[in-house]
Amino acid sequence: MLSMSGNAASTPSDPVLRELTDQCVMCGLCLPHCPTYRVAATEAESPRGRIAVARALALGIADPTPAALEHLDHCLGCLSCQKVCPSQVRYEDILVRTRERLRAKRPAGMLRRLLRSPALLTRLARIGMAVRAHRWLPALARRLPKKSAARRLLRSLPSPTPAPHFEAPPVKSSARGRIALFRGCVASACDRDTFAAARFLLETLGYEVVATAAGDCCGALPRHAGDVEAATRIAASTRHGLECSGATTVLGTASGCFGDLRDEVCRDGAVRAADALAFLAADAGFAQLRFRPLPARAALHIPCTQANVVGNGDAIARLLARIPGLTVLPLPGQPRCCGAAGSYFVEFPDIADALGNEKLDQAAALQPDLLLTTNIGCRLHLGNGLREREAAIPVLHPLALLARQLDNSAP
Ligand code: SF4
Ligand code: SF4
Repeated sequence: MLSMSGNAASTPSDPVLRELTDQCVMCGLCLPHCPTYRVAATEAESPRGRIAVARALALGIADPTPAALEHLDHCLGCLSCQKVCPSQVRYEDILVRTRERLRAKRPAGMLRRLLRSPALLTRLARIGMAVRAHRWLPALARRLPKKSAARRLLRSLPSPTPAPHFEAPPVKSSARGRIALFRGCVASACDRDTFAAARFLLETLGYEVVATAAGDCCGALPRHAGDVEAATRIAASTRHGLECSGATTVLGTASGCFGDLRDEVCRDGAVRAADALAFLAADAGFAQLRFRPLPARAALHIPCTQANVVGNGDAIARLLARIPGLTVLPLPGQPRCCGAAGSYFVEFPDIADALGNEKLDQAAALQPDLLLTTNIGCRLHLGNGLREREAAIPVLHPLALLARQLDNSAP
């Protein structure tokens, strides 16, 4: 059960957090949708349990014990609870505000500081690519204890994504408009093939594409860790870059970044944020494109952020249906978090592995030739799991597959 210390709280009460937590009527309808509750089957690992801790903190009754704080840390931020809550509890606001209040009282260790810093992570990923770490790091990582964060961090360094050889037609004019493509921090190093694919598809459709600077960030990692100040600063810097780009729309390809891109970076409305998949699915020109057949089975993992935050409905299925011969096999029970959740899979490997293995078992039962997903975190986490299983199944973004199959040889 929930544990709070018997000592008087050293944190003053918080009327805003209290009002947010008061919305919860403790009905428990969200519990079956919470991944950590499904794994642990305890109230403390449920949304309702975490809201109770947040409420006690808001009232200034008592300080949460280290155990209670750990349950808060275990929250993936997947927002599946918020999505189903009949009382429309703003769980994300509760989580971020609670973590923000607790942050000052809990100095972060080195690993956590690294995982919360987009700039450091991006630098690390780039160094890993430059020294071709994917060739020798797996052997080094295997010597470390299996569940150690260091091992997971090393394994998560990206293999250089092959420089795609898409032959995009030269853009004849920018009559269709200038589009900014959001690269993101970790994604700018680890998801380069997705970025190149999105650019290729957009240029084929006649858009002028400008990229945000490599390493530009939405601020999601620090914000979900409660470092709202850093997140706001990062979002403002990215906003400034976008406003200088001359684009009126910015497209995101990673669902994990999209919420902060839309709600924080683009909140002033000068530049509109759109999901790249939804944008392409709605583009009349896309319907005219032709794709080479691919007789293959593709398992599809819908990230929780795609379902709970982006909410673009059936855009992915509609786009993939354009590839003749491709059989798309959605994993059962979606949306359900795979355990990636930003840097969560490095910090909490036991829970992340339990959730990831469930996904990989489901995928294996479908006997796929490839696994598709729309978020870089899921791609890295599920890719790690497949490597552990020595399963040679590539994990791709749907846009990368579409670009690969595009037949632009026709006049
Ligand atoms: S968050 Fe919503 S669904 Fe969950 S217990 Fe509270 S009121 Fe019920
Ligand atoms: S955000 Fe996800 S992990 Fe966290 S309490 Fe809600 S459903 Fe559970």
